[in-house]
Amino acid sequence: MSDDRTSALTSSAYQQALEVIASVEPRIADATRQELTDQRGSLKLIASENYASPAVLLTMGTWLSDKYAEGTVGHRFYAGCQNVDTVEALAAEHARELFGAPYAYAQPHSGIDANLVAFWSILAHRVETPALAKLGAKNVNELTEEDWERLRHELGNQRLLGMSLDAGGHLTHGFRPNISGKMFHQQQYGTDPETGLLDYDAVAAKAREFKPLVLVAGYSAYPRRVNFAKMREIADEVGATLMVDMAHFAGLVAGKVFTGDEDPVPHAHITTTTTHKSLRGPRGGMVLAQEEYAADVDRGCPMVLGGPLSHVMAAKAVALAEARQPSFQTYAQQVADNAKSLAEGFLTRDATLVTGGTDNHIVLLDVSSFGLTGRQAESALLDAGVVTNRNSVPQDPNGAWYTSGIRLGTPALTTRGFGHDEFDAVADLIVQVLQNTQPGTTKDGKPSKASYALGDGVADKVKGAAADLLDKHPLYPGLNLS
Ligand code: PLP
Repeated sequence: MSDDRTSALTSSAYQQALEVIASVEPRIADATRQELTDQRGSLKLIASENYASPAVLLTMGTWLSDKYAEGTVGHRFYAGCQNVDTVEALAAEHARELFGAPYAYAQPHSGIDANLVAFWSILAHRVETPALAKLGAKNVNELTEEDWERLRHELGNQRLLGMSLDAGGHLTHGFRPNISGKMFHQQQYGTDPETGLLDYDAVAAKAREFKPLVLVAGYSAYPRRVNFAKMREIADEVGATLMVDMAHFAGLVAGKVFTGDEDPVPHAHITTTTTHKSLRGPRGGMVLAQEEYAADVDRGCPMVLGGPLSHVMAAKAVALAEARQPSFQTYAQQVADNAKSLAEGFLTRDATLVTGGTDNHIVLLDVSSFGLTGRQAESALLDAGVVTNRNSVPQDPNGAWYTSGIRLGTPALTTRGFGHDEFDAVADLIVQVLQNTQPGTTKDGKPSKASYALGDGVADKVKGAAADLLDKHPLYPGLNLS
């Protein structure tokens, strides 16, 4: 379909949908319209966000949402699931083809849910199934109370090794306050204090000592690539299951920017992902697995997931079909190239970056050299229309709340068509804001980690320059709401 025809249809679809919504609750229609205006008018640099296509967005607003479909394709606990079966089977097929995965599970409602499915699948496969076989039982209902208690104890006593939060790992990778840090005995690996890079020898040494059942690789805020072949070697040496959470960089895997040792799917036993970050799909999660884990992953719903969101699985299928187009590879390469341009833009302006640069979609700016906390920098940037999020840096003296870093990502603005020059200009605007922000004080005159003062006129100047960039690369061009 031509771009003009798509734009006309999309405009009319949303115009009419908003009128229907407004007839019931106008404030929701207003907030939805306002969100489009806000997203169109701001520099979105949140590394975990993107803009899904109108086809993906429209797929979510249908009656597929009305259907309950606990279970798996062809094996549901509810009647009348034939269309959900079609949807789920297609989403899984696209995922298998796109990622070269033997098995794909499209049901997880989010990335955290995908990780929970993976954890319980690993526990089922590695602990429960062998225990049942040893006791000659088919399932847990056949166990005596005594055997069941012993098994529960064993399930609750396993070890997990993941990347620490301040090195860039995700809280579901064994961070103690998270359920993953409570359900497992956990230890964390960090990055080299000098270089900020992953040190595989140090990870191996920790794994040998700790002997985890699960080794988790993947990150939310590490601006470099990971060698998953090496992580698998480490896992194999200590008998661990390698689980890779590629939530952040799935788009770079799908777009063949990460191949060979940098592609987690052939190396990991289980790979989890979100579908809404660099992959540019609907908000949701997915699990990819080697065949030996398939049956356990299939038990995700109702083991840890509620009924699948059929409308979102449909949107996953549409997004994955988009990601199988050659244009997605061009997009993914541009995401990585743009991150390099952004990093160079900072370095030429004397800013400090964790690891000194990037080779994925993330740039992690250490704002302590500007005399600011991450919280102050995030707020000042937001005043100037630059949307980022604060983030810890390795061994962060300001902790996970105030932080010393700002995490920036290129997937969203690359979708809008930003290239090298625009990202260099973005670096310049960010440096202008940070150079003109002063840390504030508390009511009793002590240094504050939250308050700040942005120099007069800076916000307006930066907003004006950002508007020029954004106007040249409109979001959802052709989508007109009167
Ligand atoms: N895993 C990683 C690596 C993430 O970065 C995130 C989200 O930021 C998640 C999991 C959780 O995803 P969700 O918010 O969809 O649950």
